[in-house]
Amino acid sequence: MKILSVNAGSSSLKFQMYEMPEEKVLISGLFERIGIDGSYTIKLNGEKIKKDVELKDHKAAVTILIEELINYGIVKSLDEISGVGHRVVHGGDKYTLSVLITEEVVKVLEELTPLAPLHNPANVLVINVFKELIKDAKQVAIFDTAFHQTMEEDTYLYPVPYEWYEKYSVRKYGFHGTSHRYVAERCAEILGKEDAKIITCHIGNGGSISAIKNGKCIDTSMGLSPNAGLMMGSRSGDIDASMILFMHQNAKMSIEEIDNALNKKSGLLGISGISSDSRDIEDGIKEGNERCILAQKMYIKKIINYIAQYYVELEGADAIVFTAGIGENSIDTRRDILAGLKVLGIEMDEEANNNRGKEMLITKSTSKIPCYVIPTDEEVMIARDTYNLAK
Ligand code: AMP
Repeated sequence: MKILSVNAGSSSLKFQMYEMPEEKVLISGLFERIGIDGSYTIKLNGEKIKKDVELKDHKAAVTILIEELINYGIVKSLDEISGVGHRVVHGGDKYTLSVLITEEVVKVLEELTPLAPLHNPANVLVINVFKELIKDAKQVAIFDTAFHQTMEEDTYLYPVPYEWYEKYSVRKYGFHGTSHRYVAERCAEILGKEDAKIITCHIGNGGSISAIKNGKCIDTSMGLSPNAGLMMGSRSGDIDASMILFMHQNAKMSIEEIDNALNKKSGLLGISGISSDSRDIEDGIKEGNERCILAQKMYIKKIINYIAQYYVELEGADAIVFTAGIGENSIDTRRDILAGLKVLGIEMDEEANNNRGKEMLITKSTSKIPCYVIPTDEEVMIARDTYNLAK
């Protein structure tokens, strides 16, 4: 069965086509700068093909995507595509699992727009284009928030007036759910323990940490929005909320300017003053740049604090997992985090940690908690859920 996995942003569209249930990738690619000028890259048989072409809107991108699937002989006709799985950022508290997309689901996604003003409208737009162009395929929504819906009320509520929750749905939702679910399932498989207590660290440009018990999320560091919890590439993560009023009154910044600064000019970028990319921060540290050294110190401290909190919340941990761009690739970041967790009896295996981008155990056999790197694969999760609902 051929399944297409789609991850649409406001100006990009990533896709991967699978033969399921074998999980064989047939073709993948990325459309970028949609609505600006446009280009796309296709990966096929280990080859990368890049083309510049005008991409007026998402419909233009999907039309080309379909043409290329036929050009490259991936499908002979569109009715061979049984399902299209869409990564949807916000499912509110309506969706705890992936669902088949109906008119009703699209309506709910539109209603959830205030919670994800940039992402949900792009998702709805792309869902509608696929519905129009590949009529017979089952469309499935895979939500970033769904995995975290198992959190208890005393965890997901903020200590603010209760009506904010009742009237405006203000609560902790959490994001990166598909990634946390993927690495937690894989880790439980490695451990051979379904009811394992696992702390998953998805640290990339965005970052979140989850506490998982028996395959269910107990707590996660992102909140109402993705700008909560950890310090990130350009996001502040947790701050004292009164800073917003303070900066509004004293720096005469508008609420929108402050929000923009907290999302786009903070985190590693804000403190280092040079970059949101951890590779640049690492280079800066090597050159003795004090602000890069400080940024990395703060970044590591936040991660250690969350791991320690979740260790207590879970009453122990069977494993800690690192994933996403930094978690999979930054040897220095993992080393510094594990050094800060020595008090938990964690003993890093220096030689193992000196690798990147592959599944590996990075602690010694004597370590009280084994720590793993597990490369995330949100696309295959989207394909699995779509296959299960479409078949
Ligand atoms: P993601 O958002 O998951 O794509 O992750 C992006 C982040 O991963 C960026 O901050 C990159 O600097 C970081 N990253 C990717 N490769 C490396 C590497 N080799 N060493 C350190 N950081 C890396």
